Amino acid sequence: MKALVKAKPERGLWLEEIDRPEIGPNDVLVRVRKTSICGTDLHIEAWDEWAQRTIPVPMAIGHEFMGTVAAIGDEVAGVEIGQRVSAEGHIVCGRCRNCQAGNRHLCIRTVGIGVNRPGAFAEFVSVPGGNIQPIPDDISDDIACILDPLGNATHTALSFNVVGEDVVITGAGPIGLMATAICRHVGARFIVVTDVNDFRLDIASELGADRAINVESYQLEDTMWDLGMKEGFDVGLEMSGVGAALHDMITTMNNGGKIALLGIPETDAAPIDWNDIVFKGLSLQGIYGRRMFETWYKMLAMLETGLDVSAVITHHFAAEDFEQAFAVVRAGEAGKVVLDWT
Ligand code: NAD
Ligand code: ZN
Repeated sequence: MKALVKAKPERGLWLEEIDRPEIGPNDVLVRVRKTSICGTDLHIEAWDEWAQRTIPVPMAIGHEFMGTVAAIGDEVAGVEIGQRVSAEGHIVCGRCRNCQAGNRHLCIRTVGIGVNRPGAFAEFVSVPGGNIQPIPDDISDDIACILDPLGNATHTALSFNVVGEDVVITGAGPIGLMATAICRHVGARFIVVTDVNDFRLDIASELGADRAINVESYQLEDTMWDLGMKEGFDVGLEMSGVGAALHDMITTMNNGGKIALLGIPETDAAPIDWNDIVFKGLSLQGIYGRRMFETWYKMLAMLETGLDVSAVITHHFAAEDFEQAFAVVRAGEAGKVVLDWT
């Protein structure tokens, strides 16, 4: 089969013919139809320090995908050949304390598809049956292939109650954009989104932000007063991984505010004012992955009742044109970029 492979321990990706994955009795073989590109894939392509430490070579990469069921292991129940599916890309041990307590997103032995084991940028991918998520008919293939990052957005946006609350979202990357649409869908009052990228900020406005501001030319604090806010933000969703953004967020939170942290810092040198956290009584919640499988349940339910994140998908490419697709993602003038494998 055709697959996008990290074939050598150096910068680059290679579209190669490799063997189809084998499936065990508990696995499902998915014929991949569409995939989307994540920041993680850029790190793997660039072969940075994290990728060198993490990615086995050679290996097919990619974890955001949808397709149809091509083969089913003997022990797997509840799926049918030809069914449209996506899958949870985190495979958990089922034995650690958190797994056994039903907190599988906190498993201490999480393994990632396309990171620690062969990925979905390929014509076929093997996935444990328990990770397979059937796609309702009224959800398109495009939306189905971005359920992994939509799940990150859902997990983060729903980690605190935002109904009637004023929300600040730092970072209008694909996940910040989808979180904007979710906060609007579930009934936040004001939603303010920050970034330094006007292309993405325009999409944030389209997805329901009351203000989408470029922090290079506008202050978050001024925006609060413009909107008529009197005290500060109630809920913050950090989705940039940039220290300055977290600092601005902490500064503009109301006392008792709640912050969910999804963004992964490029460095750990965030200029955080601990006094603000202490004296304002802020709650900080780190977010990893998606709840298994409550996040999947909720995001599919929201998609079926009017949540529309389609504006986040800005580009489509055939898998053969992956180099162009990666260049578009790297340049930042994009939301989600979809690769077609059919
Ligand atoms: P992304 O890199 O596309 O988006 C980050 C955005 O932050 C960009 O649009 C960038 O322009 C913007 N930004 C830069 N400087 C800023 C500033 N000073 N203020 C506000 N915004 C600024 O990433 P994404 O795919 O949308 O993911 C969002 C974040 O979540 C990333 O840090 C990613 O690594 C992380 N992530 C975490 C998990 C998890 O499980 N915790 C999963 C997926 C992604
Ligand atoms: Zn576990």
